Amino acid sequence: MIINGKEIAQIIQLELAEKTKDLVAKTGVKPGLALLLVGDNSASQVYVRSKAKACEKVGLHSIIVTLPEHTSEKDVLEVIAAWNKDTTIHGILVQLPLPKHINETNVIMAIHPDKDVDGFHPINVGKLVTGIGGFVPCTPAGIVELLVRSSIKTSGKHVVVVGRSNIVGKPIANLLYQKSTRGNAVVTICHTGADDLRHYTKQADILIAAIGVAHRITADDIKPGAVIIDVGINRVIDESSEKGYSIVGDVDYDSVLPYVSAITPVPGGVGPMTIAMLLSNTFTAAQNYANVYRE
Ligand code: NDP
Repeated sequence: MIINGKEIAQIIQLELAEKTKDLVAKTGVKPGLALLLVGDNSASQVYVRSKAKACEKVGLHSIIVTLPEHTSEKDVLEVIAAWNKDTTIHGILVQLPLPKHINETNVIMAIHPDKDVDGFHPINVGKLVTGIGGFVPCTPAGIVELLVRSSIKTSGKHVVVVGRSNIVGKPIANLLYQKSTRGNAVVTICHTGADDLRHYTKQADILIAAIGVAHRITADDIKPGAVIIDVGINRVIDESSEKGYSIVGDVDYDSVLPYVSAITPVPGGVGPMTIAMLLSNTFTAAQNYANVYRE
């Protein structure tokens, strides 16, 4: 099975559009997402614009504030403080990476946890680890949604995650070992400290590659019949493409394809789910606000 993330993300967006209409009709609260971009990183500009466009598609309100590269940390924190108080803004996203002179942790900590739709604030990380809700980072949330909607069971399965970043590796591992219907897996986390990565990856019923190295996982690294979730987005030189490059995953798709039971392609797998879950988190933030506001 090729897991079609683009199609599943579109279904989620249609569901969200309906739910948003309903929320607005019942409470008058229109979910709002504020996006902050500091500097002129062209990839970040593309990401921010596509997030705002996706908001528009499902009926969410969004604003983009772009600040110059040399903006001070204090000025960034002031923008966030204003959004924390703004009742038309329910989700705040600061596009990473930030310029080097700005401390990323200080910025993440400044976002009110109730508006932290990226799920990076330690309060939300703590809630995830203890299994008491809160906002879950969008890419791991999207992976779980892909598994659930593709009827891939995780309970009792051995999941091997390659990568331990705060954005992907750690949160997906935490989600999947939770004692819940969407988790209950036995999880192994690998990183550069693993001397023999293949020893672990070959044991995976479900292998999640969040490595950032093009085609790092090949047919020799997997167990026949495994489910492969490829999170990687890597640019490789491709002279046959007009742009001169193409985007590939962390998994050597062609080599593993004959041996897998299911796989996410790159592009069109995990990527589209990340934005869908950002919209979903923003909707939830607005719904939470509407519930409190109505009480
Ligand atoms: P990071 O660079 O933050 O983390 C990479 C992880 O992989 C680290 O834990 C690192 O180990 C580990 N690693 C790197 N090389 C090896 C190796 N040879 N063997 C074992 N472990 C290794 O990346 P992210 O988690 O942010 O992203 C991972 C990939 O996912 C990237 O390609 C990124 O572009 C993509 N991505 C895609 C998203 C989407 O929406 N689809 C969203 C976010 C990321 P160590 O900790 O020891 O350094």
